[in-house]
Amino acid sequence: MESRSQFLAGDLALDFLNTRPRVRGEIIDLLQTDNDVLVWMEKAGLPRSKKRFNGVSLSLLRVARLLRENIRSLVEKRKAGLRGDPSLLNRILGHAKSYPQLVWKTTSVPTVERIRQADPPEGLLAPIAEAAAALLAIADFHLVKRCEDPACALWFYDQTRSHRRRWCSVLLCGNRHKVAAFRKRRHGQEA
Ligand SMILES: [Zn+2]
Repeated sequence: MESRSQFLAGDLALDFLNTRPRVRGEIIDLLQTDNDVLVWMEKAGLPRSKKRFNGVSLSLLRVARLLRENIRSLVEKRKAGLRGDPSLLNRILGHAKSYPQLVWKTTSVPTVERIRQADPPEGLLAPIAEAAAALLAIADFHLVKRCEDPACALWFYDQTRSHRRRWCSVLLCGNRHKVAAFRKRRHGQEA
């Protein structure tokens, strides 16, 4: 898995969309196996499946990709002010099961934690669907943006105070843009 486009969106659902980035002009898919999905979820801090996966079934991968493209369509529609079809998202949300437990680890204050019943693949992916539903329903979509580099187009949630974030990453596209602008300027001076 290539890591440079991971977890820079500031939002779990958008980070999930960004697992299909464009690299040197070509769309690549960072999710190629069930295990890629599990590793991504673990890095994202989502609950791990207690069940062992049959690595060759690829059912998790298949549902994860379907969910991702449904979220992509919903985010694009919402951004465009249009109505999307959330039926696939809702099907996966229908598998979301969790219950609270009081966890008392030390002698001090106990905490309430939610335990997820993550039957794969839908139940396991439900937290991603929940993040997407929350984003679509609650987020200010003026701040849900695409990287301004047309060759990149990763999504992010602009949480800067000025709300002027333009790039998926200053280190990646921001710098590239700066270098290009500098070259153009210098070229202009020489001409
Ligand atoms: Zn970018």
